[in-house]
Amino acid sequence: MNKITNHLPTAELQALDAAHHMHPFTSDGALAKKGVRVITSGQGVWLTDSEGSRIIDGMAGLWCVNVGYGRGELADAAARQMRELSYYNTFFMTTHVPAIALAAKLAELAPGDLNHVFFASSGSEANDTNIRLVRRYWDIKGQPERRVIIARKNGYHGSTMGGGSLGGMPYIHAAGGKIDGIEHIGQPHWWAEGGEMTPEEFGLLRARELEEKILEVGADKVAAFIGEPIQGAGGVIVPPSTYWPEIQRICDKYGILLIVDEVITGFGRTGNWFACETFGIKPHIITIAKGLSSGYQPIGGSIVCDEVAHVIGNADDDFNHGYTYSGHPVASAVALENLRIIEEDGIIDHVRDVAHPYLAEKWHKLGDHPMVGQTSLVGLMGSLQLTPNKATRAKFAAKPGTIGFRTREHCFRNNLIMRHVYDRMIISPPLVITTEEIDVLIDRATKSLDAAY
Ligand code: PLP
Repeated sequence: MNKITNHLPTAELQALDAAHHMHPFTSDGALAKKGVRVITSGQGVWLTDSEGSRIIDGMAGLWCVNVGYGRGELADAAARQMRELSYYNTFFMTTHVPAIALAAKLAELAPGDLNHVFFASSGSEANDTNIRLVRRYWDIKGQPERRVIIARKNGYHGSTMGGGSLGGMPYIHAAGGKIDGIEHIGQPHWWAEGGEMTPEEFGLLRARELEEKILEVGADKVAAFIGEPIQGAGGVIVPPSTYWPEIQRICDKYGILLIVDEVITGFGRTGNWFACETFGIKPHIITIAKGLSSGYQPIGGSIVCDEVAHVIGNADDDFNHGYTYSGHPVASAVALENLRIIEEDGIIDHVRDVAHPYLAEKWHKLGDHPMVGQTSLVGLMGSLQLTPNKATRAKFAAKPGTIGFRTREHCFRNNLIMRHVYDRMIISPPLVITTEEIDVLIDRATKSLDAAY
């Protein structure tokens, strides 16, 4: 077999991919027929494929490449750490400097008394950790019957058995089942489900489903509530302003732990380090991953408040949970360097500067397109709701998602990566995107909408 490099012809790479590579969330048979696009390099917000096309990445990979592609400092940090200490674990009374330094930095950046970090290699693993953390907390507090975790329909928390069960995507539950003790309430998706109500009324209605569910399950049986500040994979659904304050009030009233999944929204995406600050939420645990290392290394974790960490940490028995790569030194060193870049390059200020009003004006203007019913944008995270009738908020009659799929295909042809979630088109570009690059993104998005209409 030829050595497999970027220099092989695209068709040969596609054939090898189809023969040997099983893709996540993909029917490989369909992919093999169409041929995948082979991405060969990246710089800033730009990707290059094996045909030499330059593509603007409106999704920061999978919502993760916050500082953009090709940052040499991150490669250097990885190489330095690999030479010094390539691996050691943090089990059994040992630790190492990269994990200590990263945990301390995250404690400094996270709001309130979120001062403790349990590391994982991904967002899914971190949410699996959270299931154990909250159940363990209540066990030690003498309330072992508190095991139920309440989450939302159309929420996304990963695709391990734990993360996939917390998520409210039926197609993931269908892929191998769902663990016990997870309940789902409705999502705060006003455009699709709010009917005649105002967004504010609907936000309260959906938040109050949490209270109804707590009373249905029994307040003494509920361990925690988990939600994304803005549903990402569900379609960048920004909740009405009334939603989070009411969720917070209900969690406080019943003494339920609040887990906020910031795997997408963390590390600058919404114009603050964490979206908890953007929405005024005070969680007990924050889930992190993706932007923590800008995707340069697989790393995630749970940032835990003093109360929960102290209860678990001071118990007589061990917390029997962890991963070989919890706090991996190379991933930690890269994440630390990534946080330094975000801080020293002023990337969060940059997000605020380019998002409002520059991107916001252009993004909301796309709402004039005959097919766009609603535009949403918080920081550098946005969505377009596609509809055949804006006034009635109608859905397309064909199979759900067909129009979104078609629009995404046109984006692809126009060398713009934008994702679709059913009939919603979404963006989450690298946070370093410039105003000139925003112009390119909007121009290509407009062309793609026109072509799909
Ligand atoms: N939580 C949220 C909010 C996510 O968006 C994702 C991934 O998109 C995850 C968890 C899972 O993270 P990972 O894919 O790193 O396991």
